[in-house]
Amino acid sequence: MDVVELNGWELAEKLKGGEITSRALTEAYLERIDAIDGRLRAYITVCREEALRQADEADRRLREKEGITPLTGMPVALKDIFSTKGIKTTCGSRILEGYIPPFDATVVERLKGAGAVIIGKLNMDEFAMGSSTENSAFFPTLNPWDPGRVPGGSSGGSAAAVSSAECVLSIGTDTGGSIRQPAALCGVVGLKPTYGLVSRYGMIAFASSLDQAGPIARCVRDCAITLTLIAGRDPKDSTSLHAPVHEYESHLDGNIKGMKIGIPEEYFIEGLHPEVEKAVGESIRVLEGLGAECVEVSLPHTEYAVSVYYLVATSEASSNLARYDGVKYGLRVDEGGGLLDMYKLTRDRGFGAEVKRRIMLGTYSLSAGYYEAYYRKASQVRTLMKRDFEEAFRMCDVILTPTSPTPAFRLGERLSDPLTMYLSDIFTISCNLAGIPGISVPCGFTEEGLPLGLQFLGRFLDEISILKVAHAYEEATEWHKKRPPLGKLLGEG
Ligand code: GLN
Repeated sequence: MDVVELNGWELAEKLKGGEITSRALTEAYLERIDAIDGRLRAYITVCREEALRQADEADRRLREKEGITPLTGMPVALKDIFSTKGIKTTCGSRILEGYIPPFDATVVERLKGAGAVIIGKLNMDEFAMGSSTENSAFFPTLNPWDPGRVPGGSSGGSAAAVSSAECVLSIGTDTGGSIRQPAALCGVVGLKPTYGLVSRYGMIAFASSLDQAGPIARCVRDCAITLTLIAGRDPKDSTSLHAPVHEYESHLDGNIKGMKIGIPEEYFIEGLHPEVEKAVGESIRVLEGLGAECVEVSLPHTEYAVSVYYLVATSEASSNLARYDGVKYGLRVDEGGGLLDMYKLTRDRGFGAEVKRRIMLGTYSLSAGYYEAYYRKASQVRTLMKRDFEEAFRMCDVILTPTSPTPAFRLGERLSDPLTMYLSDIFTISCNLAGIPGISVPCGFTEEGLPLGLQFLGRFLDEISILKVAHAYEEATEWHKKRPPLGKLLGEG
């Protein structure tokens, strides 16, 4: 097996034992990127020189045994939503053209502090709005399992890069499913932590009450390790929680005997792809075989999730995106018509169609007279959804659902139909609205060879239970070990 295909925790042992250097490893990943990314297009920016410099520094730390963590020397890539000091940050948009942040996001600072090597910045839907990465202002990313299909979104570049071994792991963000859905569609693991567990400082805002950063990796253990290193209180983010950060990895003992797994009837609906339903059904039997007890639970307000989300998220987005006016940073289109004209031209040329659609929706729902009917009502239903989860978690320790109603769809298929695109997130959105943690793990393949994902949702701040059950499931199955056939991306037909 190629060294780039190994999991992070396996590589960490090799780095620590001196079997491989971070430089050699980083070079191997850069080679993989050179070989396939011309087609796959997961990266917006590859930080070649900077990564090699960080790798040399990591090698020094490893040699001198100075502050070594499980990520020391590990090539990690970031969704291009995280501000990186001295490195272009686009958020998938033209409106940030030429923007080079003068600071690092807290997540980036913590990764660097742990000795990780930042190898590049990954493609995404513009401002994280989308489920296919086709809303990137630059180019779509392909699905490594089938280049005719989307990798999911909005962290599609992140999931595609991890799946095709263009980095060990990546950090994505999830506002309504953007870590878990692309992880499912690319056959990798994606973890959205509890809202507020990971700092949002320096992470470009989409919907501030929903946004949360988390790892995408090839196994549950790597997600657990990474979470420990990036989580925790940050005084620079007022919504960051004063909550203990655990050694999540130490809880992955494979023992889920007696654990209660809730199956919500509302998630097994019409429109659920038969192969998804079958794979999820089989995974329930695997978990029962491991000694878990599956119980039926109900989340009665699930049917409102998509409507509530698209009101809350667009309202917050319309307010967050007001800052892009051509004055402070990024693109400025000034044709001499005065200030108002400059604002209009900049925003017209700088934002793509989906972002404009959402700004309009959000502005409408926040405006006088409509606020009560839309935004306030959506917030009230959000509270009811949160209570649904509290009720359900009285009956079980974790909740199991499919991650996405369908496997990866074809490029272009849903572009002209925003509503169908929005429905891609039907199973992931409620988790963000409730603020609870969720994880997606590979649970099978369609007959055509497309990966499928299984989602576990946990109680507020109970990352341990979902990581534990996801890990036990992973240990009992082989799905996560399959890698995409890279022949097509290597130009071999
Ligand atoms: N796909 C959803 C949307 O378009 C979720 C995006 C996200 O989680 N960033 O809003």
